[in-house]
Amino acid sequence: MRGHDPRDAVGIVHRARGALFGVAVGDALGATTEFMKPAQIRERFGVHKEITGGGWLKLAPGQVTDDTEMSLCIARAIADRGGWELSAIAERFARWFSGNPADVGATCRRGIREYLETRRLETPPNEWDAGNGAAMRMAPVALYTLGSERFLSRCAVEQARLTHNHPLSDAACVAVGMLIQRGILGSPRSGLLAAAEDLAAAHPEFLFEGYDGEATGFVADTLRTVFSAFFSTDGFEECLVRTVNRGDDADTTGAIAGAIAGARYGFAAIPRRWVLALPAGLREEISTLAAKLVRMSPLFNPPATG
Ligand SMILES: [Mg+2]
Repeated sequence: MRGHDPRDAVGIVHRARGALFGVAVGDALGATTEFMKPAQIRERFGVHKEITGGGWLKLAPGQVTDDTEMSLCIARAIADRGGWELSAIAERFARWFSGNPADVGATCRRGIREYLETRRLETPPNEWDAGNGAAMRMAPVALYTLGSERFLSRCAVEQARLTHNHPLSDAACVAVGMLIQRGILGSPRSGLLAAAEDLAAAHPEFLFEGYDGEATGFVADTLRTVFSAFFSTDGFEECLVRTVNRGDDADTTGAIAGAIAGARYGFAAIPRRWVLALPAGLREEISTLAAKLVRMSPLFNPPATG
């Protein structure tokens, strides 16, 4: 019989939905405070904790940005092709880009334009590519490769290099994927902490303990912001509120924090008011894709033995 069910399949799908919904609610929540400084946020909102739209992009409440949209490009490409096909992901990015999205990061813009000209699936190494644009779209990769950290590492770097080719981006993508996977698999907090600490041991730029610096789009600043919020809180809402109130690249720190916290705490831990703020069609699609991706993963489809 194909499609073996691991133990706790229900819990796994529940936490996978948490991860993918986490991206969207974190993005929608954080977009309001993107490019603001913490003091400006305090002055304007007290504590920012409702999905109200606005921000520099003047979004409708519940509207998501590139972080969610590029994650969905990857998720849809995997679901449509029935597996990992990098060119299908690149095509999705290109189609999305051609539709004039509200926001596209500079490195993603360059990478997608380059792909449209050359059809090459790996952008050349670039010392300026250490932005967070590849790490922000890791949730679907983590879901689809669940059960194999090796497969995760391969796919993480392949998708990253469609637009970003830098060792810190590569390492961040793999680490974010591992935290999401360990969360979904129900690892204790120490298992997630180990993945974050391994990253910092390999690249001290990511040392995050007590970090209260800027939450910029430099991937190390982004992950230090996310990790310090995640490991100093005990629930989804608290983690996300702490993260997006740091401002700066708040939609992306929100999206990544949402993916990790959603994986760890599960869909039911996401405040209902935040889920309901998302458009109904988006909710439906995220729910379907999350279940589909994990059901396609090595965890549910172990290689035949004997
Ligand atoms: Mg964004």
